[in-house]
Amino acid sequence: MKKLINDPNSVVEDMLEGAVLANRNLMLLEGENIVVRRDFQALAAANKVCIVSGGGAGHEPAHAGYVGHGMLTAAVAGSVFTSPSVDAVLSAIMAVAGPAGVLLIIKNYTGDRLNFGLAAEIARTAGVLVEMVVVGDDVALDNDGGLVGRRGIAGTVFIHKVAGAAAEAGLSLSQVKSEVETAATGLFSMGLGLSACTVPAAGKPGFKIEDDEVEYGLGIHGESGVRRGPIQRADEMIKTLLDRIIDQGRLQAGERVVLMVNNLGATPAQELDIVARRALLGCIEHGLKVEAVMVGTFLTALEMAGCSISLMRVDDPLMLRLQAPTEATAWHGMTEPARTISRQPCRGPVAESASIAGAWSSDNARQFKTILQSVTLALRQQEEVLTELDSVVGDGDIGISLARGARAIEDSLGILDLDRPAIALQQISAILRRALGGTSGPLYAVFVLRAGVALSGAGNLNAVSSWANAFQAGCDAIVNLGNASLGDRTMLDALLPAALALHACPDELEAVGVAKKADAAASKGAEETRNMMPLKGRSSYIGQRALGHVDPGAYAVTVWTKAIVSALESPGR
Ligand code: ADP
Ligand code: MG
Repeated sequence: MKKLINDPNSVVEDMLEGAVLANRNLMLLEGENIVVRRDFQALAAANKVCIVSGGGAGHEPAHAGYVGHGMLTAAVAGSVFTSPSVDAVLSAIMAVAGPAGVLLIIKNYTGDRLNFGLAAEIARTAGVLVEMVVVGDDVALDNDGGLVGRRGIAGTVFIHKVAGAAAEAGLSLSQVKSEVETAATGLFSMGLGLSACTVPAAGKPGFKIEDDEVEYGLGIHGESGVRRGPIQRADEMIKTLLDRIIDQGRLQAGERVVLMVNNLGATPAQELDIVARRALLGCIEHGLKVEAVMVGTFLTALEMAGCSISLMRVDDPLMLRLQAPTEATAWHGMTEPARTISRQPCRGPVAESASIAGAWSSDNARQFKTILQSVTLALRQQEEVLTELDSVVGDGDIGISLARGARAIEDSLGILDLDRPAIALQQISAILRRALGGTSGPLYAVFVLRAGVALSGAGNLNAVSSWANAFQAGCDAIVNLGNASLGDRTMLDALLPAALALHACPDELEAVGVAKKADAAASKGAEETRNMMPLKGRSSYIGQRALGHVDPGAYAVTVWTKAIVSALESPGR
């Protein structure tokens, strides 16, 4: 177990103290794991119903995150995944209760029912008006959960909001309760787990799940779900959830609903949006009118990866409750979704003003094409090697980037003006600009752009000096744009020696000989990067740890210089 905690036994206390420190609208009740609104006494004095919820810890930001004006008055936390005691719930009720009474909102679990239920009963004998609503929104279990009924899961957050807003509006306890119950009967959720989670005190995951498995319909207490299935495309798995929710909720085309896409704990925001996309499209396909949506981390099971989806039937009054303001920090508001993915056409890339350039022979053009094919093939073939190198000293993307650039060039080979190499290089620059991001992307784009521009001014396209000058111009452009110099452990440590080697070649040396000299210089330069401290780019973050490894950008240069040599050695291909 690796967790950012102090002690498994003080997790709940430490967490609640943090929550209260971070938000001056909140307070702890002395000696209890109960978070209350700082102004709770004013609520009672204003004759407003107080809303109390809670349950085991481990569902953060629930429940303390929902305490605040417009939502909960108090949240009672038990140990992780353990219902709070009767006395803890009773303390919360007795602390906040005013003449208008208290509404308890719990999720349907036996422990919560018993502890909150008994506390309510005891409070009533002390003359406090208390009512309780039990939310059971989980549609995963067949037979509506049998005797114990549906479990309560993330959809409960909607209920907290409705209750808080209704109480704030000044409704009586029975009115708030009835509004909340009506809302809850139209609420349906289901979860999908990708990983288990570890209760700090237990020290190991609650269940085992294989890398290629997912768990449908799991509860939020780390328990396994109702069935396992293979990991599939997100769209397929979300369709399974949504279809079940719509079916069990008997939601009909034309009905108005709100949607919650909830992170069970460890799901990246990226994946949540992928889930939201499918869920919203699915609702549209079913003819449901999604009035509002929220996507985020609302009710979790510690660090479990996965999500839950909730749909709730709404009408105008219920929408008003959901849209009413609240100070609770975990409620980020709801947004109105679009019916389609709208796109605004963007302006095309700036018009290319290719410079005037001379043409060369069709033999040269053919050879140029062979070289380009050899280079792009080599870059694709070396993708894994490059990825490996960049994983050690960088972020592992250079192989993917350069292979993508290579494919983009291959896709455009037919439209390149290979008869006029200066133009072709500028065209290649534009292709790379569009296809490549990262650091090497723009650097390569500027390299070939400037090389192309320099070549367009060259008198003799077959002279080695014309190419040496073009190559040098490209290197200078990289220096200008990237601000690195020789010895900084970058692609320049391969490129600049190659440029020098080109300048040193006599004009009568044949192309393959020239390429070999450039390649030898580049390879020697790349090899030397092993001993250079990284000063530029991402590798600079790891400092000394880069030593002993070749710079991936410099190595990539040798991939294409070698490919040029091999293309020139076998011109018949
Ligand atoms: P990123 O760091 O954005 O992932 P890439 O993986 O595409 O970049 O490229 C990394 C390579 O870029 C490095 O190995 C290095 O050779 C080269 N590089 C980084 N910074 C510079 C720079 N300022 N000038 C020239 N080359 C650089
Ligand atoms: Mg990288």
